[in-house]
Amino acid sequence: MQDAKLAAKSNDTHTTEIALTPKVTVGGTDLLIVGGPCSVESLEQMTAIATHLAQAPIQALRGGVYKPRTSPYAFQGLGTEGLEILDQIRRRHQIPVITEVMAISQIEEVSAHADGLQVGSRNMQNFDLLKALGAANKPVVLKRGLAATVQEFVMAAEYIMAHGNPNVILCERGIRSFDTHTRNVLDLGAVVSLKQITHLPVIVDPSHATGKRELVPALARAAIAAGADGLMVECHPDPDASVSDARQTLSLETMVELVDSLRPIAHAVGRNIPLGQLSPEPALV
Ligand code: PEP
Ligand code: MN
Repeated sequence: MQDAKLAAKSNDTHTTEIALTPKVTVGGTDLLIVGGPCSVESLEQMTAIATHLAQAPIQALRGGVYKPRTSPYAFQGLGTEGLEILDQIRRRHQIPVITEVMAISQIEEVSAHADGLQVGSRNMQNFDLLKALGAANKPVVLKRGLAATVQEFVMAAEYIMAHGNPNVILCERGIRSFDTHTRNVLDLGAVVSLKQITHLPVIVDPSHATGKRELVPALARAAIAAGADGLMVECHPDPDASVSDARQTLSLETMVELVDSLRPIAHAVGRNIPLGQLSPEPALV
């Protein structure tokens, strides 16, 4: 691929494993299953999720505290208070957390409280943000832009890498199309292509890709069958009460069932879902 000096694969077997923590990595044999709400709402909510999903288990938690909402009147996220909740959860439950940075001014604060920095679709080509993330000391989960080509997506990763941060995880989350039946269209062809073009880990977000919770489990399974290195799935203790993206959010019970259903598929494609990253009994802090 033109100009992707750092992101491009040098040979067929060239892959990169990225560590969120010393124990939790993505891009190797182990899959990275990330679950959690669209938005962090409260400590109780995040505790319920971390405790319940210890059964799955998932390997990392997600939850937005700085939210890019279509309407300026919609909930914008808990900000600093939400980051403090994530920090408590990651320490108590020994699980890495991933949350979005929307602005350069948020990078330092978010890096101090999270293990992975998410760049949302709407910011995939915010080049100043990408350059600044080159200097961050945390892995970046880069989501594909709403209407970004595969080339643009790879070059956005290249920006972060060229500015000093080699730890970029690509996330396919669906692209805009003419059909409003689903929120976006999950581009599994892009996942296969990205795995062929780049050495970076590629994960799939079937929640934003579909916008409908009844479509999420099947597409999650399809993503793993297609060779994705992991998933990012929205789930909540009371999905219909989610402050954002309720319609696409799974219950915690469905999330556990989904992870169970992935095991034979992971096995069939030579991958593994690691056990026991979450401690069911919160450790004392
Ligand atoms: C999110 O992950 O909650 C989110 C806003 O995703 P995207 O940037 O893919 O729309
Ligand atoms: Mn969301």
